[in-house]
Amino acid sequence: MISLFNQSKNLPQKTAIIDHTGTFTYQHLNERSNDFAAYLLDGKSDLNDARVAFMVNPGMDYVTVQWGIWKAGGIAVPLSISYPLPSLIYVLEDTGADIVVVGPEFEELLQSYVLEKEKRWIVITANSEFENQGQLPDVSGDRGAMILYTSGTTSLPKGVLTTHDTIESQISTLIQAWEWTEEDRTVCVLPLHHVHGIINVVSCALWSGATVYFNYPFDPDGIFQLFVEEKINVFMAVPTIYFKLIQTFDGYSEDQKQEVSNSFKKVRLMISGSAALPVSVMEKWQSISGHYLLERYGMTEIGMAISNPYRGERRAGFIGQPLPKVEVRLVDESNRAVENGQPGEIQIKGPSVFKEYWGKPEATAKSFTLDGWFKTGDIAVVEEGYFRILGRDSVDIIKSGGYKISALEIEEVLRKHPEIKDCAVVGILNEEWGELVAGALVVNSILSFSDLNQWIRTQMPAYKTPKKYLIVDELPRNAMGKVVKNEVKGLFSN
Ligand code: ATP
Ligand code: MG
Repeated sequence: MISLFNQSKNLPQKTAIIDHTGTFTYQHLNERSNDFAAYLLDGKSDLNDARVAFMVNPGMDYVTVQWGIWKAGGIAVPLSISYPLPSLIYVLEDTGADIVVVGPEFEELLQSYVLEKEKRWIVITANSEFENQGQLPDVSGDRGAMILYTSGTTSLPKGVLTTHDTIESQISTLIQAWEWTEEDRTVCVLPLHHVHGIINVVSCALWSGATVYFNYPFDPDGIFQLFVEEKINVFMAVPTIYFKLIQTFDGYSEDQKQEVSNSFKKVRLMISGSAALPVSVMEKWQSISGHYLLERYGMTEIGMAISNPYRGERRAGFIGQPLPKVEVRLVDESNRAVENGQPGEIQIKGPSVFKEYWGKPEATAKSFTLDGWFKTGDIAVVEEGYFRILGRDSVDIIKSGGYKISALEIEEVLRKHPEIKDCAVVGILNEEWGELVAGALVVNSILSFSDLNQWIRTQMPAYKTPKKYLIVDELPRNAMGKVVKNEVKGLFSN
């Protein structure tokens, strides 16, 4: 089984978790998850890879359930706490989970479905007692541990099965690269049904004996307060969260700003990932916090793979270099390594790569090359030793008039325009050109397209410039804050 404790096994009295229900030590977490595991086992000796779905608010109960499932030999299926019933049912059916654990907040939503399907049903609260101490199984590392669903940015979310060994490898890579220690204090603001929240933040922190605060629902003022009062020193978020924090900060008085900015001096590491970090957000965050955000690249299927260095030069607009134990190559359409400086698909090998798409052997087979490289579908280029993402082959690489155009590069330019707050560039089908470059814009004030056209022609060659624009109030985003490009395309056909 994943060693849930590394440094922390010798620190039973140290604080592991602080959430809205209280403060919990490592010893408490260990004992409570043992009890919960025994309760789950209900007299059996091993859950034998039964899928246990759970819908619990981030915090002590959440980790208790997750660890309990692992300790009992089950496969953990975390459910998003913000999904509507049909999306939850999709995951429950897809995984065939036959035990469902919920926090009291979610009882009403799921109960009738679960009872109708005659699944086992457990409601967990801070006061639940599971005095069912018994023998726990010995779970080998090659057994399935978790099914996380991809964000569903390009199509229906796929269940990604990882083993205990996979997860352990994902964690230990990051502990090494980002130098986690028991001195660290972090606050988790991310959903826990994705790698970013559950692996990079919570699992890395608990493995190393650090302390995790939970801030849910996301509250920018509460986050800043934690930085000021609780000496948070490691922070990870997605670009949209940094964007929201900046907006809140801008509304503060000079004294408040000073206090918050001072608190960032104690911080050792701030990270962004899950989607491309706009350089404008990075620069603004630097002016507020004094921190040059470390950007990294990862996926549900592979954990983290490429990262800017913890020590050493971090480059804005780049995702950095391969992490320890992760093999990375860039290839063309026939899986041959590209020449230096040429764009290619990122392919990954190593112990952090997932086992299979749950129940989708064909999709699994299609996503690996014959010699075992995982095909990410993301296109990148290496410049002076640093990887730069050009986007997803399926939606961000626009094929227009024989050119391959990176939507991300055009978005980065558009964001420099003073009247453009946010934007998403897509390719829309066109008989003459194959695809036409089109931009959906969120603007500060009314903007004349002819002025915009003139301006953009000073920024990039004509073949790259958007040929169609649309003003929108907001970009369609999924739960991870990622722009759903297929929906943006749809806006242009309306
Ligand atoms: P689905 O696979 O269901 O379409 P998804 O790919 O968004 O959804 P995730 O596994 O959560 O699901 O996200 C991985 C993807 O996120 C990567 O393939 C990549 O396209 C994108 N990504 C992650 N980090 C970065 C980054 N730093 N810059 C740009 N893109 C990133
Ligand atoms: Mg994906």
